[in-house]
Amino acid sequence: MYISTRGKDNNFGAAEAIVAGIAADGGLFVPTIVPKVTTEWLANLTNLDYGKRAFNILSLFLPDYSDAELGLCIEAAYTAAKFDDPKIAPLVSIGDDKFVLELWHGPTSAFKDMALQILPQLLSKALKKTNEKAEIVILTATSGDTGKAALEGFADVDQIKIIVFYPDKGVSPIQRMQMVTQAGSNVSVVAVRGNFDDAQTGVKNIFNNIEFNTDLAVQGFQLSSANSINWGRLAPQIVYYFSAYADMVRDGHLQLGQPVNFVVPTGNFGNILAGYYAKIMGLPIGKLICASNSNNVLTEFLQTGVYNRKRPFHKTVSPSMDILISSNLERLLYYITEGDTLQVKSFMAELNDSGQYNVGEDYLTAIQQIFWADYVDDNETLQTIKTIYDECNYLTDPHTAVAWQVGDRYRQQTGDHTTQIIVSTASPFKFNESVLTAIGDSNNLEGKNEFEILQQLSELSGCPVPSALAALENEPIRHEMVCDKEDMSVIIKQILKNSK
Ligand SMILES: *Cc1c(COP(=O)(O)O)cnc(C)c1O
Repeated sequence: MYISTRGKDNNFGAAEAIVAGIAADGGLFVPTIVPKVTTEWLANLTNLDYGKRAFNILSLFLPDYSDAELGLCIEAAYTAAKFDDPKIAPLVSIGDDKFVLELWHGPTSAFKDMALQILPQLLSKALKKTNEKAEIVILTATSGDTGKAALEGFADVDQIKIIVFYPDKGVSPIQRMQMVTQAGSNVSVVAVRGNFDDAQTGVKNIFNNIEFNTDLAVQGFQLSSANSINWGRLAPQIVYYFSAYADMVRDGHLQLGQPVNFVVPTGNFGNILAGYYAKIMGLPIGKLICASNSNNVLTEFLQTGVYNRKRPFHKTVSPSMDILISSNLERLLYYITEGDTLQVKSFMAELNDSGQYNVGEDYLTAIQQIFWADYVDDNETLQTIKTIYDECNYLTDPHTAVAWQVGDRYRQQTGDHTTQIIVSTASPFKFNESVLTAIGDSNNLEGKNEFEILQQLSELSGCPVPSALAALENEPIRHEMVCDKEDMSVIIKQILKNSK
């Protein structure tokens, strides 16, 4: 069963928690009991493929899904048609004690696919199981990666529509192309005149507009969100931590039971929190190393116990981590306080009222037994991409480079040389300009279009352009709507009316 981190909503089934997304008291759903696994159970994973590993792990958290239902969800999500590597989340060796877990072989070339390929399947089944008759409308404001991954995942899924708003000047050319060419009978993409905050504020206002939502309900529609606070997005991310470990053991890089450290480029704290679940389930993880860019709110929190969102917002070369409120941290607080929901609620109220909270010495000590944190600025990020390319002949995107550098600092500062797995969250091709600039090949970018730049990166790296990115060049533009931020709700009504 699932309960809210703030204590009010109790005893939801997994399907109900996935349909609800967020608890009515504003908290996040957490499982009342985190399942524990044994060494034999772990050993058994080594011989399975990714889909079967996913089945073994997800079935522990989703007992209200039948084996057949869960099997269908997994089959639809992690297929060769969607992922360009049959291993789904391959592990690359960079030496004896450093490995990279590549989570970007899905259709949008970023790690969001790992969860957003399966969340729509889980949600669609959950609607049937909870007897929900309304048509669900997923509303998303995106700064780039999430929007496209959600579109890919939700396209043509039964009983669900998706509408994505993106800032017309706020996404990269590749990201825009990925979205405006999206196919699917149930998808809409709209550019908002403004920046990401305008689009996101617009969406938040629409969620909170009771009159608007009542109006939609009369027409048989219910709004929902695909963001990373949904349990159906978090649970699938636990799988790749186990999968990486199983690969390490199978290939003889680790003895079963030997610890490994993960370094995770972090924004909303969803990815690294999935690692925390893996650890408390019994996966032998030593430290979870939290890597941030100049938006270093998490670094400060994990080092001092003070979470303070009152700070300047930096636009960086690792934009998917440009975030000041890491929503999933609330789930960690729930576990660190040993389920003290009143305490969690009061931290969250402080954050809301004064922009900060302090967890104090005891909780900080408990947190630091598991987490370590540091951050890297843009200059150093680009420098790191170059160093890795020169020394290891491996090409990383800026987010992964942030993690790599923080992982190195961890070793220098702590002397802990436990094997590290760097969690790689985006293909270097997705951030091609930063990567070419970093490895010193930016002077001949001028006058080139996006596809010529991708080609240049491919030649330089010897890696093929991901096929979904290469194919964009020949895709027709399917979405040309543009609106002012004041008109987002009008546009939604128009889209839904036309879809009837
Ligand atoms: C979303 C994202 C992140 C941050 O992940 P969180 O789960 O929000 O911490 C890091 N890198 C990339 C490329 C992303 O798209």
